[in-house]
Amino acid sequence: IIELKNIVKTFPSEKVGEGVHAVRDVSLTIEEGDIFGIIGYSGAGKSTLVRCINLLEKPTSGEVIVEGKNITAYSEVELRAVRRRMGMIFQHFNLLNSANVFENIAAPLKNQGRISGKEIRERVEEMLRLTGLEDKARAYPSQLSGGQKQRVAIARALVGRPRILLCDEATSALDPNTTTQIIELLRSLQEKLKLTVVMITHQMEVVKSICNKVAVMEEGKVIEEGSLVEVFSEPKSSITKEFREKTL
Ligand code: ATP
Ligand code: MG
Repeated sequence: IIELKNIVKTFPSEKVGEGVHAVRDVSLTIEEGDIFGIIGYSGAGKSTLVRCINLLEKPTSGEVIVEGKNITAYSEVELRAVRRRMGMIFQHFNLLNSANVFENIAAPLKNQGRISGKEIRERVEEMLRLTGLEDKARAYPSQLSGGQKQRVAIARALVGRPRILLCDEATSALDPNTTTQIIELLRSLQEKLKLTVVMITHQMEVVKSICNKVAVMEEGKVIEEGSLVEVFSEPKSSITKEFREKTL
């Protein structure tokens, strides 16, 4: 469902003639229904790589193929439609603080235009039910716990009924219990809504509890990838070993 071919992303650097090589020649295939984990230390290029999937970052070279379409050279207008098929959530939730929960979740539908007020209401209410926020529709983000804020962000990411959900450290700002609850929620939504999930995390317990596949990144490269069992039963690299030790 997502194919990355030889993705390179180099950012301009303050030093003349040098660039920051955030992603160096990464090729990955993420299949429909995968919960695909991406792990690696800070600065490894995880966020940059995932932002290339919805072209929030334009790769310096390489191709991004989503649902069979090569979207690498799409215009911003075309990308808007593609991005509707991909929700994204973040570590710090990125909610609109001046809007209540209902309005936050409704925002992507309102921006699309052409959707009636009645349908928006029904779809937001459905998302409130699915994320267990029925009694919070009128609350503002400042009145919510971290876990509740992430539920709002998940509802907002999924209200447009995307096929793909990109998660960048979605549980890193949460305590262990809340992390477990959010992971359970993501797992049940993945099943109910038939999602493909890409999940950046540095929390090994998150990878172990939810991902079926994992890629390990170091210095802009994917140094290992495969099923969870393959990668962690016989780690080839010292980084994978270090991640595995974290949960023993
Ligand atoms: P973390 O775990 O800390 O979130 P990461 O694996 O997500 O790290 P990236 O955020 O993808 O890493 O960053 C990879 C490299 O690219 C880093 O060296 C970073 O400084 C650099 N980088 C990322 N975004 C930009 C940007 N917009 N401009 C310049 N350099 C950038
Ligand atoms: Mg990151």
